[in-house]
Amino acid sequence: MPDICPNCGLPKELCVCNILDRETESKIKVYLKKAKFDKYLTVVDGISADELSKTAKSLKRILACGGTAKGNVIELQGEHKEQAKKALISIGYRESSIEVS
Ligand SMILES: [Zn+2]
Repeated sequence: MPDICPNCGLPKELCVCNILDRETESKIKVYLKKAKFDKYLTVVDGISADELSKTAKSLKRILACGGTAKGNVIELQGEHKEQAKKALISIGYRESSIEVS
């Protein structure tokens, strides 16, 4: 009797439920936030804590802007939604896991 996943009904070795779960968890959101003096911050939300400072550094370098990282959020100075998405892809994040709003 093969081990069947209770979720999708497939044998455990074919089941991708765990992988799908992981993808959902690591959804990255990119959105704008209004800052002081009519300026905007581009927020990148959902980067895992161990990747945060490295990712922040890369984004600041690629986008040539300032920014801060705290919790699992990176705040970049300026409006860089689409550029931030491209930059994330260029450093290895998957396009399908990045949501720009
Ligand atoms: Zn499954």
